[in-house]
Amino acid sequence: MKACLLHSPAPVETNPLDFADVLVPEPRGGEVLVRVSACGVCRTDLHVVEGELPPRKSPVIPGHQVVGTVEKLGNGAHRHAIGDRVGIPWLHSTDQTCEYCRSGRENLCDHPTFTGYTVDGGYAEYAVAPEDFVYPLNESLSDPQVAPLLCAGIIGFRCLRLSGVKSGGRLAFYGFGAAASVAIQVARHWGAEVYACTRGKNHQQLASELGAVWVGEASDEPPVKLDAAIIFAPAGELVPPALKALKKGGVLVLGGFHMSPIPSFDYDLLYQERMIRSVANNTRQDGEDFLRIAAEIPVRTQVQVYPLRDANRALNDLKSDRVNGAAVLDCRS
Ligand SMILES: [Zn+2]
Ligand SMILES: [Zn+2]
Repeated sequence: MKACLLHSPAPVETNPLDFADVLVPEPRGGEVLVRVSACGVCRTDLHVVEGELPPRKSPVIPGHQVVGTVEKLGNGAHRHAIGDRVGIPWLHSTDQTCEYCRSGRENLCDHPTFTGYTVDGGYAEYAVAPEDFVYPLNESLSDPQVAPLLCAGIIGFRCLRLSGVKSGGRLAFYGFGAAASVAIQVARHWGAEVYACTRGKNHQQLASELGAVWVGEASDEPPVKLDAAIIFAPAGELVPPALKALKKGGVLVLGGFHMSPIPSFDYDLLYQERMIRSVANNTRQDGEDFLRIAAEIPVRTQVQVYPLRDANRALNDLKSDRVNGAAVLDCRS
């Protein structure tokens, strides 16, 4: 099969992904082989490819927003039928035995594997995954449009949950890429007002189109105090301005897997029971709940599609904010 291989991390400007022929993987016990039709390009892929996340496998095929159809079942796999449309997300497996898994927090598992990082992902024509960690997908969205829901969408949803925002609440999004453009649709569905602080005219315009009540630069102060804020951009310097935008008791959620260092700030910004919390991965429950709500709303995604062989170009465009909405690879041969 064709696949994009990362042998060793390097800046994406050097086009580190190698478009090559490799063997189609065999599903092991409890796994399914998926014929990939589309794979979303996530900011975390950028962190894997550039090495902000330390390499865990080499070579590795990146990509963890994988949409396709079940092609073959491993021994004992019975949850999905051949031909079913499914999605493979970032959380590839957990041990299901550690204290976190046993307390309903498998997103914090001590021994997880991650698609497109510790195991091969979806920048390829085929991928394998444990059947219990694969989501069935309904037909409401096309393959490229559903891909960004599988990470950006689910993580954005978990961020919203942890922000505690309710109907009538006000929250700010810092950064307006793929996750924010889905999360705003869920937030508005719940009756919350969204304020968008983001760089770049494209992102600002997208925020307005999707119903943000106010749009400004990343460092601008929203005109009212907010119940919650979510920082989607991997920029630690946004933490002090985001705290400043919160009401007393407000919650700041850090939605990125990776963030540049957070500068020091006066305790006053945090005092009055403001809270900062990070988001790590997601549980399968988050994914199932989100995909149900996404189909109900229904969530719309704006995607920019690239051929599989152009994964380096997609990553370069993502890094330099040239993608409006989400980048998605077309992996059909
Ligand atoms: Zn565990
Ligand atoms: Zn992701």
